[in-house]
Amino acid sequence: MRPVSSWGRLSAPPHEVVELADRDHIPAVLAAHRPGIAYGLGRSYGDECLNPEGVLWSTASLDRLIAFDSATGRLTCESGARLYDIQRVMIPRGWSLPVVPGTQQVTVGGAIANDVHGKNHHGAGTFGDHVRALRLVRTDGETIECGPDLRPDWFAATVGGMGLTGVIAEAELQLRRTPGPWLEAETLPFKGLDDFFRLSAESEAAWEHTVSWIDCTSGADVRGLFMRANPTEGGDRPRRARRKTFPFTPPVSLVNRLTLRALNEGYYALNKRHAGRRIVHYEPFLYPLDGIGEWNRLYGPRGFYQYQCVVPHGPGRQAVHDMLDAIAHAGEGSILAVLKTFGDRRPPGLLSFVAPGVTLALDFQNRSGVLALFERLDAIVRAAGGRLYPAKDARMPRGMFEATYPDLAEFLAFRDPGISSGMSRRLMGS
Ligand SMILES: Cc1cc2nc3c(=O)[nH]c(=O)nc-3n(C[C@H](O)[C@H](O)[C@H](O)COP(=O)(O)OP(=O)(O)OC[C@H]3O[C@@H](n4cnc5c(N)ncnc54)[C@H](O)[C@@H]3O)c2cc1C
Repeated sequence: MRPVSSWGRLSAPPHEVVELADRDHIPAVLAAHRPGIAYGLGRSYGDECLNPEGVLWSTASLDRLIAFDSATGRLTCESGARLYDIQRVMIPRGWSLPVVPGTQQVTVGGAIANDVHGKNHHGAGTFGDHVRALRLVRTDGETIECGPDLRPDWFAATVGGMGLTGVIAEAELQLRRTPGPWLEAETLPFKGLDDFFRLSAESEAAWEHTVSWIDCTSGADVRGLFMRANPTEGGDRPRRARRKTFPFTPPVSLVNRLTLRALNEGYYALNKRHAGRRIVHYEPFLYPLDGIGEWNRLYGPRGFYQYQCVVPHGPGRQAVHDMLDAIAHAGEGSILAVLKTFGDRRPPGLLSFVAPGVTLALDFQNRSGVLALFERLDAIVRAAGGRLYPAKDARMPRGMFEATYPDLAEFLAFRDPGISSGMSRRLMGS
């Protein structure tokens, strides 16, 4: 048994960690070590990838790229392959993953199990929209091949299914053509939610990627930086890749009530200097935090929460206004606060998080009082017809999950009885 935590570092319970190194042996390993839950790179924030006191099936060594058709852009890979490695190998060949989350330290299995979204959701949909087929291994030894056109019910349950329908052994992905690693990016400072929604509406037709950083201390009259980008030829430019690692876990969170305003002020001033257009490499634009390894240590030994919700367009503006107001009044939040509109495309998974509307994501240090703030935010989200993202969650009440994921009952029929996680016990009772 050894301690394992997820990205929020809220706890590090002991686990029996079992490596899945050979995809042909997965059925035998699952039969010998169960119940368990698949663990990719632990970039989900809460208890979704944890099984305290129980078994974790680690896919870190299941990382082979199996086949690539350079005429069609179809890539078959094992589920532990990192998005980072796929991008590094494929972009020089003129192909890219069509959807990537805000970090590329994520496995293909983790990206499917949360049906992750990126800054281009309005045009490209979710990760699951580009999965052509996958192979699922159940703990009773059954192997299920599924995809959007092959056993689509199993596919819909597994995409966004939080690892609870079986272990994804491999997947076939449809990549998309790219001119190379460069993006033409533009940063536009904005003031107020009307300005944010106007920029989003204006940008979505012409810009592939859109996202906003917001200063969570500025309240409902929010100030922020709207960022948008398109792939571009860019030429043969040199790139200075600087990667640092946060060296230690400080005894207390460095993000706290005393530092919050200054940190946001500093971030705003620093990045406002880059306002306007420029050519940038895809990595700092798409994965700004990957430049600092283990930045999650910043929050000290007690760890941190992320709160990410989506609220539908109609009531969404007022709901975001009320949430920002509540957060600023509580004096909580962090420098990592993101606002983005989603497109109208329906995601492929029964439990996919994405829905048409606007998403707000913020980090919060783990301290007394923050759970009471989450209850106030939950009430706003529910009243607006929104929901929370399980990939980021560590505390959503079960009643909220049941009320806001209407396809949950249909999903439960596909669960593997030999799979259980901290989250499944908290939100589904087993
Ligand atoms: C800095 C940062 C930025 C992020 N930005 C975004 C973003 O922009 N958009 C977004 O959608 N998400 C984002 N995320 C969340 C992240 O993309 C997801 O949590 C992702 O699922 C993590 O993948 P992982 O490989 O680390 O999986 P883990 O965290 O290890 O596991 C996540 C879930 O996937 C399941 N799983 C993993 N592998 C398999 C498998 N082989 N078979 C079956 N189930 C499996 C696990 O059981 C678990 O339920 C971000 C996370 C971080 C830390």
